[in-house]
Amino acid sequence: MSAPRVTTAPKVVAVTESSPADQAGLRPGDELLSLNGRSPRDVIEYSLLVDEPDLDLVVRRRGHADPLELRVAKEPGEPLGAEVSSAVFDRVRTCDNHCEFCFIHQLPKGMRRSLSLKDDDYRLSFLYGNFTTLTRFTEMDLERVLTERLSPLFVSIHATDPDVRAEMLRNRRGAVSLRWLTALLDGGIEVHGQVVVCPGKNDGDVLEDTLAGVLDRYPSLATVACVPLGVSRFSHESAMRPHTRSEAAAVCDTVERWQATFLSALGRRMVFAADEYYLMAERPFPAARTYEGFPQHENGLGMARAFEAAFGGDERAALGVRPGFFAAVDGAPASGYRARRGGPGEAVVDPSAPIAILTGEYGALVLGPLVESLGRDDIRLVPVANRFFGGNIGVSGLLTGADLIDVLADQPTGHRYLLPDACLSEGRFLDDLAVADLPRPVEVVRTDGLSLRRALESGGPVDQPARSERIPVTLGASR
Ligand code: SF4
Repeated sequence: MSAPRVTTAPKVVAVTESSPADQAGLRPGDELLSLNGRSPRDVIEYSLLVDEPDLDLVVRRRGHADPLELRVAKEPGEPLGAEVSSAVFDRVRTCDNHCEFCFIHQLPKGMRRSLSLKDDDYRLSFLYGNFTTLTRFTEMDLERVLTERLSPLFVSIHATDPDVRAEMLRNRRGAVSLRWLTALLDGGIEVHGQVVVCPGKNDGDVLEDTLAGVLDRYPSLATVACVPLGVSRFSHESAMRPHTRSEAAAVCDTVERWQATFLSALGRRMVFAADEYYLMAERPFPAARTYEGFPQHENGLGMARAFEAAFGGDERAALGVRPGFFAAVDGAPASGYRARRGGPGEAVVDPSAPIAILTGEYGALVLGPLVESLGRDDIRLVPVANRFFGGNIGVSGLLTGADLIDVLADQPTGHRYLLPDACLSEGRFLDDLAVADLPRPVEVVRTDGLSLRRALESGGPVDQPARSERIPVTLGASR
């Protein structure tokens, strides 16, 4: 297969003052046609190119008939000082699967188009932690991943039985594409796996078989996350339904039994069940130490325990926000980092006013005991039901502006309202409403226990820590 054709030149969106780019005359709006004679396909290649000393740039600038040539003087490794507009300059590789459980197929009509992008692109897996099924992975991709050490990657497994996997992806290539997982692991790439567990499809015996298959064929996987499918009220798939309480408990049991097996065979637990399973099963979360450093914290595994530890003052456990279902398609800047999610929050007139914490229905279950432990009667939780998506959607990261407007309209004025930043992307909710559209001023708080604790103890909006706003793209070495 030939290399992907470059269809869009990277567009400069910001230039740092006094940086090499600034001194060379590069400006926001310029399109980078080539860097040292090369046109990067994506921001990974771009990052490698701009690492070089002394760059020759060819740029297209509005108002100029001919491209301009700029010479940048810089040291090797010195930042160029130019931010570009997207992660992938050729085409994002879209998925050719038709999974029954796909949440993108369950979106209401009329949502912005970028949310419907079904990507299955290893580059977005590397840059943003998106899961790829590898059904469109190629020999050339493998060569690049191994050469450039694009690690870690995140792979959707769902089932190790080829027929079940092909049926779940509704793609016959699903039966064979896990051969690439073997090749990646053999090449020393760190890979995290995911099983979206759908009741009646790949739970029960199939899940047992899948975890046995992982131990047998993919024992060097870093982790495997078992997460429940989300079912919105817009789903047209009659076979897809939420887990019952006993089915959720059975998933917890299966995972815990296999943790013991992995622990004795490999010295680590490897497989984890999402927090939602413990909430659905109405069981306490496993102890924090059993999450072995929270490697898939951002996918909802151990998030509650990490939140609790951070709320209690453990700074190391303040692991930040889950990237969210749409993190890579919307509001995610180009170099593989998560954008600042919300604005700084609006000032509140009376810093000693009663405090209301806005949260999703699952979040309320986690936060309830923590808030209660403070013994303060000026703090209350305001759980927001997800009427927008309906179904079993209860995570705070999918709260929408419309639901918040409904709930806040009935809340008193003059109180402090804290909103988790997990539901925002560049200050906007999934339904395109903004924080400014809400009927009460809110303070946007980073979604970790430490930030919430600080906000509760402060007399007003707290500065959002910069940590974790950028996840640097690391090339040439495993992360
Ligand atoms: S692979 Fe992902 S994006 Fe593609 S159909 Fe399945 S769930 Fe949807």
